[in-house]
Amino acid sequence: MRADKTLQIRDVVAGRGEKVKAYLTIGETPNGPIRIPLVIINGDGDGPVLCLTAGVHATEYPSIMAAMRLINDLQPSQVRGAVMIVPVVSMAMFQSRLPFISPVDGLNLNKIAPGGTNGSISEILAHMLLTEVIAKAKYHIDLHAGDFGEMLLPFAGFPLTGNADLDRQGEALARLFTPLLISIGPESGPLALPFVGGIVRAATRLGVVSILGESDGNGTLEETDVRVHYDGVSNIMRYLNMIDGEPKIVGKRLKATDRFLIRAIKSGLVRLKVKIGDTVAAGQELAEICDVFGETVEVVRAPRAGIPGLIWSHKVVNTGDPVVRCWGTEPAPPFPETDRFIREAA
Ligand SMILES: [Zn+2]
Repeated sequence: MRADKTLQIRDVVAGRGEKVKAYLTIGETPNGPIRIPLVIINGDGDGPVLCLTAGVHATEYPSIMAAMRLINDLQPSQVRGAVMIVPVVSMAMFQSRLPFISPVDGLNLNKIAPGGTNGSISEILAHMLLTEVIAKAKYHIDLHAGDFGEMLLPFAGFPLTGNADLDRQGEALARLFTPLLISIGPESGPLALPFVGGIVRAATRLGVVSILGESDGNGTLEETDVRVHYDGVSNIMRYLNMIDGEPKIVGKRLKATDRFLIRAIKSGLVRLKVKIGDTVAAGQELAEICDVFGETVEVVRAPRAGIPGLIWSHKVVNTGDPVVRCWGTEPAPPFPETDRFIREAA
């Protein structure tokens, strides 16, 4: 959708050339209203509407920090089109420093989309976010990071829709966002990520070109991780000609073929032998588990070759607990729309 003279969401109105910061009220608790912050940067020039959401999981701080920085850095005079930014979708999780689920109703916002008006507060929030904010945009990026306890390899994900044009644009955005890895897959199978029930998948069903942007995190706020989001969004805005400059892609992209999870069989203290992003061979040692007497009771090995994409930072495991999740990968096939921006790694 092209930015009109003004962009309006409920009573929040941003005219051409304006940056407006406001709250939308979703519901209430006995303590007061439940609100989400919304910023609309309505550029001077013509262009598409891009929506950025962060804090669907509100302890994934690098993504939130990047959204905040973009709010400050993007000036209407430099923007063609409009950018709508929700820096923290779940304020309840943000204020209480709780990962994954809302303290209000115990639901994971990224598992219940598209939500609905006839549900609990997270379902109402998902529905409102999708139908009243994200649906006003042509493009959407949902910014996430490794949550508490998760060391995560940055990647960008897009769920295939079957609409060739939309799928092509989604892949372009994913390739522009990620520093290395893209995960693009259908609704079921080993690459059903972004998940069914996730905000991104639901947004694509509304016809929005929506991608998932992930960085490392683990409850920390490191500049390297903030940059993944900031640079990814900036690349996409340059590609869409919303701001000046050319996108920069450093080195070739990797495409995920599947994911596999390695769980502990024995219980004890875990000593990791790999990091996220390493290349591991079939049979390679990933971790060692020792019992309370310090004796090694299990050597955790990779069942086949892959790249550790998620390592849980918990140091003690019980039987069945996840230790490492790996990506299977292959070089991404040629993609002329974005390959022209590739620079070789220094
Ligand atoms: Zn998340």
